[in-house]
Amino acid sequence: MTAEIIDGKTIAAAIREEVKKEVAHRIEKNLPIPGLATILVGEDPASQVYVRSKHRACEEAGIRSFSKILSAYTSQAALESAIRELNLDKKVHGILVQLPLPNGLNEEQALNTVALEKDVDGFHPVNIGRLAQKGREPLFVPCTPAGVIYLLKENISSMEGKQAVVLGRSNIVGMPVALLLLRENATVTICHSRTQNLPDVVRNADIVVAAIGKSEIVRGSWIKPGAVVIDIGVNRVDDPTRERGYRLTGDVAFDEVREIASAITPVPGGVGPMTIAMLLLNTLSAAERFD
Ligand code: NAP
Repeated sequence: MTAEIIDGKTIAAAIREEVKKEVAHRIEKNLPIPGLATILVGEDPASQVYVRSKHRACEEAGIRSFSKILSAYTSQAALESAIRELNLDKKVHGILVQLPLPNGLNEEQALNTVALEKDVDGFHPVNIGRLAQKGREPLFVPCTPAGVIYLLKENISSMEGKQAVVLGRSNIVGMPVALLLLRENATVTICHSRTQNLPDVVRNADIVVAAIGKSEIVRGSWIKPGAVVIDIGVNRVDDPTRERGYRLTGDVAFDEVREIASAITPVPGGVGPMTIAMLLLNTLSAAERFD
């Protein structure tokens, strides 16, 4: 079997186009233009790239974006006061605090300060708490996990009763993905660095979601024939044949796994583009909630 390649880039482009149309409709109807504010603390180059690409995506969709850049030496009080200012700003419908924050700043406290109805990143403790509780609805779901579920829904008519194995239990990806799969009524197993016999656990899975951050750790021999495999991992591997000296790989050995799985996301071009598409959707829905 050769797996279908799940083309996150094309799916994300279609979502972004839809958001753009909706924003244009709002402008026609004289409704407020959705606005996203980012807060970047410090000068981490990867974070700078992520924030820039979020602003570019907003611009393309017609969403207003606002940027607050704070020094790495910003105090907790100053960070929280910047967030509170944005909470009160009517032009801002969504607030995104770029993570990770520099050492010394309390991430949980900062995220707790974001107004619940502007928490487009979905990391406010109340939104995460609601995600974990049966019968409760978070206002927003974290963007990368939401993108994973969106891609799965494009490929699987129902996840109900399927065995899903999530590799990784981080707050920002592994755990929320597992909670979302549970909401889809999958039977979910969460693996982490202390899991024993990882290949055997993965072999039971109809759905595999890898979010570990270790290049090509998931091998073809781990995969149940016909499983759907979503690779969240993004790893830099030295490659002197490339001009930039490295290439990006996922957590899944793509060439091996595509021969066994029924569908698989590539890296790059799978989950990655979905994250920003989901952020735009969340920002649009935040603005709609204000109407
Ligand atoms: P993280 O915070 O470092 O978490 C990694 C998780 O993997 C932890 O739960 C860890 O277990 C587990 N783990 C580590 N080694 C393992 C092993 N040998 N076997 C089984 N589990 C193992 O990383 P993250 O922030 O979740 O990110 C994971 C990957 O996703 C990274 O490559 C990151 O770049 C990528 N990512 C991509 C996007 C996107 O938009 N595409 C967004 C976010 C992240 P313990 O809990 O026991 O330590």
